[in-house]
Amino acid sequence: MNPYTIFADIVAGRAPASRVYEDDDVLAFMDIRPFTPGHLLVIPKIPARSLAELDPALGAKLFTVGQRLAAALRDSEVACDGVNLFLADGIAAGQEVFHVHLHVIPRTAGDGFGLRGRPTSPPRADLDYLANSIRAALNHG
Ligand code: 5GP
Repeated sequence: MNPYTIFADIVAGRAPASRVYEDDDVLAFMDIRPFTPGHLLVIPKIPARSLAELDPALGAKLFTVGQRLAAALRDSEVACDGVNLFLADGIAAGQEVFHVHLHVIPRTAGDGFGLRGRPTSPPRADLDYLANSIRAALNHG
């Protein structure tokens, strides 16, 4: 099955993204349709369509990076009170992009987010602003 998705283009730098963290194996960037401000995606650079295809060592790394980003979100201007980590594996689970990704979703009381939450459409400048703030908090953590 063709492993191509837009995330491969983001990894390669062929598509724009508001990057927050990057190392040899993993990339994190702002979700283009965030459920709450600061919503991030963490992906393995090597494409895996599903958890079954994902190297467990990379899966562990996704969670480790997600855990660090959760702390950075609390310390950044996002200033959330809580964080949801969410990963949709398969169509029935709501997966739309078939390149494994861990959602890191900032939460505040009454923010209205739920599994039936509605995405928003902030301009790129807003995404970049929060990306800078989160990146700075991450680098100081
Ligand atoms: P899924 O439903 O597969 O768990 O989530 C896919 C996520 O990818 C959605 O939250 C969606 O907003 C995000 N997404 C889809 N295409 C793009 C894109 O081109 N750039 C970014 N930054 N996020 C995307």
